[in-house]
Amino acid sequence: MSDNRYIDTRGAGERPVSFTEAVVDGLAQGGGLYVPEKIPELALDEICALAELPYAQRAAAIYRRFDVDLTDDQIAKITEGAYGDQFDSAAICPITSLSGDIHMLELWHGPTSAFKDMALQCLPRFFSVSAAELRDRGQLDDTHMILVATSGDTGKAALEGFRDVEGISIGVMYPDGGVSDIQFKQMATQRGGNVTVWGVRGNFDDCQTGAKNVFNDDAFAAELHDRYHVALSSANSINWGRLMPQIVYYVSAYAEMVANGKVERGDVIDVCVPTGNFGNILAAYYARRMGTPIRRLLCASNENRVLTDFINTGTYDISERQFVKTPSPSMDILVSSNLERQLFELTDRNPQTIVQWMADLREKRGFKVDRDTFAKMRELYAADSVDNETCLATIKEVFDAEGYLMDPHTAVAYKVAETLREDGVPVVVASTAHWAKFGNNVYKALHGIALADPLPEEAASLTGCALNRLIADETGVEGIPAGLAELDDLPIRFTEVIDGNKQAISSAVRTFLEQQTK
Ligand SMILES: *Cc1c(COP(=O)(O)O)cnc(C)c1O
Repeated sequence: MSDNRYIDTRGAGERPVSFTEAVVDGLAQGGGLYVPEKIPELALDEICALAELPYAQRAAAIYRRFDVDLTDDQIAKITEGAYGDQFDSAAICPITSLSGDIHMLELWHGPTSAFKDMALQCLPRFFSVSAAELRDRGQLDDTHMILVATSGDTGKAALEGFRDVEGISIGVMYPDGGVSDIQFKQMATQRGGNVTVWGVRGNFDDCQTGAKNVFNDDAFAAELHDRYHVALSSANSINWGRLMPQIVYYVSAYAEMVANGKVERGDVIDVCVPTGNFGNILAAYYARRMGTPIRRLLCASNENRVLTDFINTGTYDISERQFVKTPSPSMDILVSSNLERQLFELTDRNPQTIVQWMADLREKRGFKVDRDTFAKMRELYAADSVDNETCLATIKEVFDAEGYLMDPHTAVAYKVAETLREDGVPVVVASTAHWAKFGNNVYKALHGIALADPLPEEAASLTGCALNRLIADETGVEGIPAGLAELDDLPIRFTEVIDGNKQAISSAVRTFLEQQTK
């Protein structure tokens, strides 16, 4: 079966691990990230032939080429389960072409209406099968509880992905009062017997720090193992099992573009991605490495523009940077963890260099890459950022001109694509959320209200669902996803609010696991 192994970007692991181990471990032992030893190469014929297959089989074909240590049957079962009728489009991620040779790759047709479904419908299935394999091989005897700190999108996508998956339970923490009405209801109404949700007193940082402290508590880990045979795990975006599914849609998009006559077979495209943790754009990089004719990767930032500055200067600097609030909160980030994998590749996989840069980042709040690395990065990437007002103005402009309504994350990428595009090269823009997930900001955009200003009374008094209906009525845009439209009618299941410290979170986890074992 498999001979592709996973190595650690910081070179600390004793031995390379299998795919199943990399999925269950998440993070490598020395704190680095797992990367496959071999990146498969796809011939152009192979890429274009994917267009004839349903999406689930496209994903299976790519996973097989990565030589994962699962059988073809296991892979087929995973991808068919992950990319089935929980998506509201048979194409799974259809492409809508706009003027100016800009093509929107819509990654939000899944159950939670954000692109994270593309990975988080697959990862739990990888996880469950991998853990079962490891238990069979005697390498593991616990089941798992996934603990997630979220600022909004990830929590819901993880809940929906892990709900009722065998041998795994999940608890999600979000900042109480810090998420939109839609985001709160998406999580608080979550179905499933193995899920729970807590509001945390504090902001997202408090949630994340609290979760980290619980993960690092060896005594608590021992207690969970002894009492419940449970190990804690995170489902965050550094897991290779989350990254690999994202590579598929870039390869698939190229095949689709050729099949639909949007690009000549073999001609290049650019890809533009609204970037936060660098997972999505990194997947496009790997698609390019595998042979997809992608010319350049366009990195789009909001006002938290650390990545754009890095790509343009070669210096990653967060020493003086303030965290800014934007209409695209899922890109509000200072430390982009997946960048480490890109740096590893750009240095021809030099773990010593990565260890040094990551130490500089920790100790000096920044690092500077060497000239060689910088030159390679400039060949691959171009980057630009979009301020809050321009983001909202773009939503309105594109709607007025094309009748196409975008969410604020997508609008950031659209604007950057428009700025950096070159004639003769089609741009595929990663469209990462349905507009109705961020209806309050979309309403402001359409009505020319500044981000900092409140909504007018007639809009402010509405629930998130009712506001979305108002937007749909005013614009004539149809198709609010069922999962968002029904939220006001579902029973609220989870209302508990806890403190963000280690004791409070540990105690909530204990209570949940007690109930689970009953
Ligand atoms: C998570 C997210 C992003 C950022 O993706 P990364 O992989 O973290 O770069 C962009 N848009 C939306 C809507 C998201 O949920």
